[in-house]
Amino acid sequence: NRRICFARRPPGQPTADVFTIAEGEVPLPGDGQILCRNLLVSVDPYLRLKMHDRESYTPPLEIGEQIPGGSIAQVVSSRHDDWQEGDLVAIPGGWQDYAIVLGKVATRVDRERAPLEAWLGPLGMTGYTAYAGLLSMGQPKAGETILVSAAAGAVGSLAGQIGKALGCRVVGIAGSDAKCKTVVETLGFDACVDYRSSTFEEDLRAVSPDGYDIYFDNVGGRISFCVQKQMKLFGRIIVCGLISQYSGQNDLDPKSLDEYMRWILVRRLAIRGFIVSDLARNHPEFHETMAGWLKNRQIRLETTLYQGFGQIVPAFLAMLQGQNTGKSIIRIAEA
Ligand code: NDP
Repeated sequence: NRRICFARRPPGQPTADVFTIAEGEVPLPGDGQILCRNLLVSVDPYLRLKMHDRESYTPPLEIGEQIPGGSIAQVVSSRHDDWQEGDLVAIPGGWQDYAIVLGKVATRVDRERAPLEAWLGPLGMTGYTAYAGLLSMGQPKAGETILVSAAAGAVGSLAGQIGKALGCRVVGIAGSDAKCKTVVETLGFDACVDYRSSTFEEDLRAVSPDGYDIYFDNVGGRISFCVQKQMKLFGRIIVCGLISQYSGQNDLDPKSLDEYMRWILVRRLAIRGFIVSDLARNHPEFHETMAGWLKNRQIRLETTLYQGFGQIVPAFLAMLQGQNTGKSIIRIAEA
């Protein structure tokens, strides 16, 4: 069993030497547990947050600790009544070939209903983050204008498409012309603005001169500072993630906080952060609704798919640098 573990805390953008591979025997499940073979592995930005030794919403990784993460897996042997050999499951399987988890934390994956990748994307934690974050925190109404950052990424691409499905006008922010093109032409957003352009702020205003009702923020930093001034009166800012800051970058002048607070008052803005697990029980209709949207193609399954165990670390590093569109997934075995 190969397991990717945490070797050292990176001072800035992580590199491959942050990780090390440990090899060992395939473990045996205990009472109530299942042994699973990971098929699809997820790489997620919160892992970068866990590399800092400081308080967050998720505990820091210890040096030597196995890297956690969601996976789609197949049950190899079961000591839990609900599961049998061969079943397909979504589990917190981590970056390894085989995982042991409690049977009660596994959820069933039905490949008749949607391809395996969808259970890490729209039908998994990523999809629920976009859905529950937008609905619970933003309470969008048809006709409102929603702005989404990291719009070509896993959560952002879904938040925008959900906004469209709910009858809103949706604008994206992404890191290149090519991504902006995909966001509009493939994902159906109404417009998309490149934050690397020197005219970013003007471009943002030009595509929505009346401003934005909701900002679904995945990035924080300079981008969000520019956006805030373009929010409408009583606008809602949903703080989903701050990826532009996770590697310790600080692209804002300290005085910007005064300016930021001033605009909260002037525009009477509501700003709410959330973590997907807080909203776990808010939307029992989620699976049914999302599966329906996938089926009638209102939501597209957008993934950047890598092949092989050796691609897990490169896929993670590439995602942090914006080399993905949609959900980054690594296939390490076949069902
Ligand atoms: P993505 O698939 O969106 O990948 C990350 C993207 O972030 C990259 O593709 C890149 O796109 C963008 N990015 C990277 N660095 C910067 C930067 N300096 N400035 C602007 N954009 C940058 O990842 P996810 O969809 O998995 O996650 C998106 C956000 O959602 C993250 O902040 C994550 O922490 C958060 N999240 C929050 C959850 C919650 O419960 N609150 C749950 C899950 C995710 P580009 O090319 O456009 O720069």
